[in-house]
Amino acid sequence: MGIITTSVFELLKIGPGPSSSHTIGPMKAGYDFSRLIQGLTSEQQTSITGIEVKLFGSLSATGRGHGTDRAVLAGLLGRRPEECPPDFLDGLSLDQHAVHLLQVGTCTIRFTAANIRWDDGQYDFPFSNTLIISLYGDGETLLEREYYSIGGGFLQWKGERETERGAPRYPYENAAQLWKLLKKHRLGLPELMLANEMAITGLDLNEINRRLDRIIAVMEKSVRLGVHTEGFLPGPIGLHRKAPLMYQRAGGMTQNAERLLVYLCAYAFAAAEENAAGHVVVTAPTCGSAGVIPAVVSLLRRHRKLSLETVRNALLASVAIGFIAKQNASISGAEVGCQGEVGVASCMAAFLIAFASGSDLRVAENAAETALEHHLGLTCDPVKGYVQIPCIERNAMGAVKAYTAWLIAREGLPDWHIVGLDKAIEAMNLTGRDMRVEYRETSQGGLARCC
Ligand code: SF4
Repeated sequence: MGIITTSVFELLKIGPGPSSSHTIGPMKAGYDFSRLIQGLTSEQQTSITGIEVKLFGSLSATGRGHGTDRAVLAGLLGRRPEECPPDFLDGLSLDQHAVHLLQVGTCTIRFTAANIRWDDGQYDFPFSNTLIISLYGDGETLLEREYYSIGGGFLQWKGERETERGAPRYPYENAAQLWKLLKKHRLGLPELMLANEMAITGLDLNEINRRLDRIIAVMEKSVRLGVHTEGFLPGPIGLHRKAPLMYQRAGGMTQNAERLLVYLCAYAFAAAEENAAGHVVVTAPTCGSAGVIPAVVSLLRRHRKLSLETVRNALLASVAIGFIAKQNASISGAEVGCQGEVGVASCMAAFLIAFASGSDLRVAENAAETALEHHLGLTCDPVKGYVQIPCIERNAMGAVKAYTAWLIAREGLPDWHIVGLDKAIEAMNLTGRDMRVEYRETSQGGLARCC
């Protein structure tokens, strides 16, 4: 599968929900294309006659519910996910009568709902979530790029050249290799991750820590906003936000275990509901699963009073688990179902809790493996194409499973644990590739079919 060269900030990204594949990836594509248009000569720019965005795979099947059209348009209007204010997207209507103007030099391109083509045919693209943006001039195609939104907000395009990046100082492909490196070099996992991040990106230690603290702050903010925002989520389901009520009720509970559990669920609901509302979250590792890690981070910070430094190190350590899952399987619901989104988030979260709690590496690996193992086979079946049912509750279940997985691992003898993390990731990959397409973010199978 190759050495992992992903940056921490490619996995943990700040951007608008509700789906990293359907909003962050397509917005990046729109932004990239807007830069390409700017590079045309003034003669080419004056000959522009129109623009077309073609959406394929689950971008077409569930893109309306996810707001893919608005995300591409925001990108074309020059917005990038990490900087796009939520109210900008909220106000970006693409109903029948809305007209948007893209300014290219002295040329103005009209953009309406008719410029988007939702293509539900079967194609042989290398990735199912494909979009093609074309710019037309007088009788010719001036520009065209085929983009692949490959999950977690990662974007590639046809013919893309490998971006220059440094080689990791401690190269690894899977968990077994990573544990060996830690032993050989007598390193802690956060130290290894920092050394690799500096080598890959060229960022210095202070900048990496600053960015990690910002990620944690956005996670905590999404929880804070979510537990205080009442009302209904957008879309045809009419789903009521539940986090505020749950949070309020948790405060009145006298039974400690129940109170903690309800708080954990309320935090996961809060961030997942913010995501469903199209507000800013952190892909951890995706938007659809953006409630799991913020929930455990909030629990550790608010209730166990762990320091920012402890949580930052544990988050960094958990990113290694996300990298290994992405490298050897997938974090895209369109590729391997929800086991790759909420399953991987839960796996990372179990590792994070264990690490932050001072468990040794073997216990942390067992916790991560247990959390992932019990998500195997989980399909992606968002009702009416909206990241709401089953997604929001599923985030809470992912957080609870993560916590339980850590308790099981902590209270057992590590050597009695048979299945290693690499094996669970391999099983996830095999299971996901065997899944019929209906169960991979098309809204044509499972709950989406029955509701
Ligand atoms: S079911 Fe899971 S993978 Fe599918 S959209 Fe919801 S959270 Fe994402």
